[in-house]
Amino acid sequence: MFERIERVPGDAILGLIQAFKEDTNPQKVDLGVGVYRDAEGNTPVMRAVKEAEARLLKNESTKTYIGSHGSPAYGDAVLPLVLGADSPVLEAGRASATQSPGGTGALRLAADFIAGELPGRGIWVSDPTWPNHHGLFTAAGIALHKYPYVDADNRLDFDGMLAAFNKIPEGDVVVLHACCHNPTGFDLSAEQWRTLLEVVRERRLLPLIDFAYQGFGQGLDEDAYGVRLFAEQLDEVLITSSCSKNFGIYNERTGCLIAVAKNAEQMENVRSQFAVVARENYSNPPAHGGAIVSEILHDPELAAVWRDELTEMRDRVNTLRQEFVKALDPYGLAEKYACVGEQRGMFSYTGLTPDQVDRLRDEFGIYMVRSGRANVAGFSRENLPYITRAIAVVNG
Ligand code: PMP
Repeated sequence: MFERIERVPGDAILGLIQAFKEDTNPQKVDLGVGVYRDAEGNTPVMRAVKEAEARLLKNESTKTYIGSHGSPAYGDAVLPLVLGADSPVLEAGRASATQSPGGTGALRLAADFIAGELPGRGIWVSDPTWPNHHGLFTAAGIALHKYPYVDADNRLDFDGMLAAFNKIPEGDVVVLHACCHNPTGFDLSAEQWRTLLEVVRERRLLPLIDFAYQGFGQGLDEDAYGVRLFAEQLDEVLITSSCSKNFGIYNERTGCLIAVAKNAEQMENVRSQFAVVARENYSNPPAHGGAIVSEILHDPELAAVWRDELTEMRDRVNTLRQEFVKALDPYGLAEKYACVGEQRGMFSYTGLTPDQVDRLRDEFGIYMVRSGRANVAGFSRENLPYITRAIAVVNG
């Protein structure tokens, strides 16, 4: 039977990582991969995480199953982080968290829930979006559509987005990035969130908000603006939260699917369906990452350490964005790439064309995705002069 199976090409990013490894250019720069890097180019374990793990190792007494919804202590810690400590939604008991293997696992739970319990509804993702959104929702059997997000001049196309939302069939699901839009870095302003809310309400759309970078944009609370607005103002919202980036626990697979319903009764009904979907996919989520997050967030001192570390990461990325634009000024290119200074999060749609990306790789050993998406955390004080000179050459 396997004779007929065709091999598919691997993930383009993995190919990029391999090519980078093999490149012998001593000045080579990796702007491709999707993880945070510090000034030395490392993705270290955060101090708060190390401390939490030491405590867990000492105190852990069992490795029995944690149940399809995961650890209640993790849910109790994450819900206020996402929805706000004084959230009226939590006060009303109309939200709950189901722990999942990463944000990806949460998205898959949401997808299977939608396919099974809300059949016939289409799902709308931004164009462009994180490529895995396409695979994930299609694999669950949901009809996938796109709404515009970026215009031809590499700017947020909010008007185009709004016009598209006004034509989405009633009851369909719309996927929104809470902050640090991947791959573009373009985020909605508070005013734009409020405008969008009215259309979503009017057209009775179901928002599925992907919250993979809380704390990487402007701050833990600032980044949650749209999530909290929608959860407080609408009866029904789905939120997928990931702890991969903000706790730096990528390989622990830690996230959750949050259901916000009209009341506690309906929330429990929806939540019960999440457990079914979780059981069918993987039975129980992995425990360790959730235990780390719970250990940190339930201890005010450790939580303060974590917040400081997260602030350091966020500030580094935002500073590098400004320094990148400044370094392009002598080449007369600061205005052309000003968007990089305005975008938020780890990723930037730079506006570099696929041809320019190829030249940067071949002539300078600078690696990024062909869409022109750069991981800003790959910038450093040392390599910015080299990168910006190379960009000036391929613009010449
Ligand atoms: N959504 C978006 C937009 C992402 O960029 C990512 C991570 N690249 C995820 C979800 C999934 O994150 P996780 O590693 O927690 O599965």
